[in-house]
Amino acid sequence: MKLKDKKAIVTGGTRGIGKAIVYELASEGCNVVFTFHSSHEAAKVIEADAEKFGVKILSIKADASSFKDAEKTVSFALENLGGLDILVNNAGINKDNLLLRMSEDDFDAVINANLKGVFNYTKASIKQMMNQRSGKIINISSVVALSGNAGQANYVASKAGIIGFTKAAAKEFASRNITVNAIAPGFITTDMTDRLNEKQKEAMLSLIPMKRIGLPSEVAKTVTFLASEDSSYITGEVISVNGGIYM
Ligand code: NAP
Repeated sequence: MKLKDKKAIVTGGTRGIGKAIVYELASEGCNVVFTFHSSHEAAKVIEADAEKFGVKILSIKADASSFKDAEKTVSFALENLGGLDILVNNAGINKDNLLLRMSEDDFDAVINANLKGVFNYTKASIKQMMNQRSGKIINISSVVALSGNAGQANYVASKAGIIGFTKAAAKEFASRNITVNAIAPGFITTDMTDRLNEKQKEAMLSLIPMKRIGLPSEVAKTVTFLASEDSSYITGEVISVNGGIYM
């Protein structure tokens, strides 16, 4: 087990990539607090699976865009897990539209949940990690942060902002043995991508050299790598998990 007795927070752990990350960390012996926003029932089902892994899995309702909620989540994790070794900033939303039609509210909502969310949880966690002189922060960005994408200016800006934030934070905390890295997933099968129609999915698939859509578990395994000692000398890096769609 690569993460035996480690303690982690995962934001947005109820579905898709976040849920796969919770299970993957737990399967490596890690205790996990994860947040949910609206899926209370799903969160309870995941909590109940803790027994299978012999670890603690606990959920807490929290809005990624709220700094108060981030502080509440970190306090909850410290009280219930007794420490914090790993932070995975996964929670994310999209509200796609062409710029001409994009409302100010939709721009703000996406930046606040996706980019400010990363600031909120990093800031709320960092004192603990600095005091213990160790920590692993993993931020979920996106391939579109590297390539751009029409109809997603708010989402792309938030995900590109996460890469800049990751590099700045990596430099600030490197001397404290805290690594900060990002993952840029490509097209991964989750609720977020299920909303695309068949024509959009086929168009996307035709661009992927590996000719298949990625699995949440393939992103989650990269999180484990970045959370474990296997990546001890990697910081400020962006790892693509995208089947070759962008190189
Ligand atoms: P998803 O299936 O739509 O799940 C989103 C998760 O985020 C859910 O757990 C949801 O909780 C939570 N969430 C939503 N709004 C929130 C808020 N305001 N505060 C806290 N939590 C919130 O998404 P996904 O596809 O797994 O994506 C996960 C991450 O990967 C996101 O950052 C996304 O941008 C990124 N990503 C995804 C893809 C892809 O192809 N799927 C590609 C690149 C990057 P509730 O269930 O409680 O609402």
